[in-house]
Amino acid sequence: MKEDARPIPVPEPSAVSAPYWDATKSKTLTMQRCVKCRRLVWYPRFVCPHCGGDELAWEPLSGRGVVYAVSVHHRPALPAFADEVPYSVVLVDLVEGARIMSNVFGTPPEVGDEVGLAWVPLPDGRNLPTFERR
Ligand SMILES: [Zn+2]
Repeated sequence: MKEDARPIPVPEPSAVSAPYWDATKSKTLTMQRCVKCRRLVWYPRFVCPHCGGDELAWEPLSGRGVVYAVSVHHRPALPAFADEVPYSVVLVDLVEGARIMSNVFGTPPEVGDEVGLAWVPLPDGRNLPTFERR
């Protein structure tokens, strides 16, 4: 994986997603867990989509999972991805039980592959969590 910072377009942190992005500065994948029903919540929200609970606590995750779905892109969706093709948009089922959308750069994975985090540095000090085969 390339270690130089890349100008990949990513969301600006909002009030609700700021803790998530702050954790990426130390290459830690975090997710909210509902204090009431104990289910993981992805993406960051103010209210649990499962039970309506409004107390959501951040916790670190392993970053390990299994590929649930893959879409391989041979043409870049944005100019910033021109040097990355082919790249894959993936759904990963994390071992903790949540499903997250992300990318795999390089050789496309297959459904069922075990993957782990591959952090991509961003110019502002954050890191983008992508995945690679393990
Ligand atoms: Zn809940």
